[in-house]
Amino acid sequence: MVMESFEERQKRIIREFISKGVEITKAYYEGASLVFYTKNPELLEDTRISEDLARSLKRRIIIRPDESIRLDEAKAKELILKIVPPEAGISNIYFYPILGEVVIEAAKPGVVIGKDGKVIRQLMHEIKWKVRVVRKPLINTPIIHKLRSLYVRHDKERVNFLRSVGERISRPTIFSKDKLRNLTWIRLTFLGAAREVGRSAILVQTRESSVLLDCGVKPGLNSMFNSYPAFYLENFSIEDLDAIIISHAHLDHCGALPFLFKYGYRGPVYCTPATRDLMFLILSDYIDVLQKEGHYTPYTSKDIETTMLHVIPLDYNEVTDISPDIKLVLRNAGHILGSSIIHLNIGEGLHNVIYTGDFKATNTFLLDAAASSFPRLETLIIESTYGGPNDVFPSREEALKRFASIIKETAENGGKLLIPVPAVGRAQEMLVALKICKERKLIPEIPIYTSGLVHDATAIHTMRPSMLSRRIEKDVMYGKLFVTEDIDHIKNIDELSEIAQGGPSILLATNGMLCGGPSLEYLKLIAADPENALIFVSYQIEGTIGRQIQDGAKLLKLTTPDGRVETLEIKLGVHTITGFSGHSDLRETISYLYRINPKPKRIIVNHGEISKIMYLSRYLHSKFKIEVLAPSIGDTISLQ
Ligand SMILES: [Zn+2]
Repeated sequence: MVMESFEERQKRIIREFISKGVEITKAYYEGASLVFYTKNPELLEDTRISEDLARSLKRRIIIRPDESIRLDEAKAKELILKIVPPEAGISNIYFYPILGEVVIEAAKPGVVIGKDGKVIRQLMHEIKWKVRVVRKPLINTPIIHKLRSLYVRHDKERVNFLRSVGERISRPTIFSKDKLRNLTWIRLTFLGAAREVGRSAILVQTRESSVLLDCGVKPGLNSMFNSYPAFYLENFSIEDLDAIIISHAHLDHCGALPFLFKYGYRGPVYCTPATRDLMFLILSDYIDVLQKEGHYTPYTSKDIETTMLHVIPLDYNEVTDISPDIKLVLRNAGHILGSSIIHLNIGEGLHNVIYTGDFKATNTFLLDAAASSFPRLETLIIESTYGGPNDVFPSREEALKRFASIIKETAENGGKLLIPVPAVGRAQEMLVALKICKERKLIPEIPIYTSGLVHDATAIHTMRPSMLSRRIEKDVMYGKLFVTEDIDHIKNIDELSEIAQGGPSILLATNGMLCGGPSLEYLKLIAADPENALIFVSYQIEGTIGRQIQDGAKLLKLTTPDGRVETLEIKLGVHTITGFSGHSDLRETISYLYRINPKPKRIIVNHGEISKIMYLSRYLHSKFKIEVLAPSIGDTISLQ
């Protein structure tokens, strides 16, 4: 069969539109989507025609109103406010003239859409703009407005970028499709997170394309050589990259991304919309903290903005072409909000690579378990953070009981509790855990405080309740979780001192390993009193203050930003609870591999300390009798 080229397909779609009486004024590829501008506003309201075409052509189709038919912005805004019932709680309206799109941010998006889409259809009919509705965060955060305004300011630039991506994806292939089907030539090169945790980056090369999976840093190290992926390897070239795909918004998976933009990368970055928002937050904070502490900053906030302008968001399960011979699908990884398992379908389904990123194989309080069923699977790349023989977590129920009993005892003795948390993921998991404890009356009614980045990260969670576990979705949507009256945000050191002098309370604060931020400031205030307690609920990397305390240090030497050395005596109770992890433990990883469907032909183990990687690899090889590999940094694996 002769394959239809992109241009042929585009012409055919236009012919089909015309045969249906539709007037098309412009047509482009934007990324892998086909975009049509039309003078027929009914096409905006009635999506059936474009949906039919999209289905038969297996290509996303976007319809936009031609400029000549749109109402001007002021009039359109007036009409929006008139048509949408006030209980929708519209908070912002953003116009994107180049896209012919208006984004309405509202507290109740359902009201803007109306029953069966009645209100939104009427809106589009009247104003002749394409309308998109987004949920307003239940917590005020400047970060989302900053991001949306960035896109409004660079509307035109962004469209040009999307068009150039479209052209690149549809470039003529070097090999014919038939030939590609018979010639597998896929190479994986490990630039980071190989026999270590941190700086995740895997280069995937085919005969036609080159794609990078993740682009992280290794936190806690000062040397650029060890803390960044091995970009110096000769396989790697920024110019050849077709795309970068980010599995989730943790620094060890995305912290080096703006660095590539600083050095000239201008191609697309694919990730979920939630990962995009969280990534903007944590990358900005990363640079801020480095600056404040007087460290070298590897890139600027301008580089972060450039990065964000090159993100192409993809929802879970949406199939998209990212190069002439690679299709991409993101699936839920269950690790943090927006985290993805990356599925690459290479050469018309010839070879399927699935990369778990960080994944959680069972349900957590916050998220549903990772996807385990795929259409096809040849090579599986799996993380092994907790792949060692002793890595068996207590169940979440057991962890919850222990957590509650520490809180109860401390509070009854008049003590205060500090829980250092990473801002994204564990912080929200602990907020759900605390809610459950209070509902079951396992702990007394004491105030809960959050400080540092937790506040903004939680705000982003309230925008996307449907991506959270079904068990908490409604609670988040209706403000019964994360924004309840017993939770307060602590903004500065004065407020921290106030709660340190008050009665029993719980503070969830960043940094999660006590490497600075409000968690360390608060520790200094409460460390001397043995009635107080510190609870670790996340992994403490060797060398951090958190790890030293966890290992039993009673006297700490701390260097202040101005170079003075302070001594901190640890007298408060120190506890560690392992059952709240967003990673899979050894048992969960193994049962995931029994469950995964279809079974892979080859497993590659990465993202773990060397002893854990070796243990898990040997175990999997003996259990499943298939090829199991544990590459080192710089190793290239050819997939046949
Ligand atoms: Zn992670």
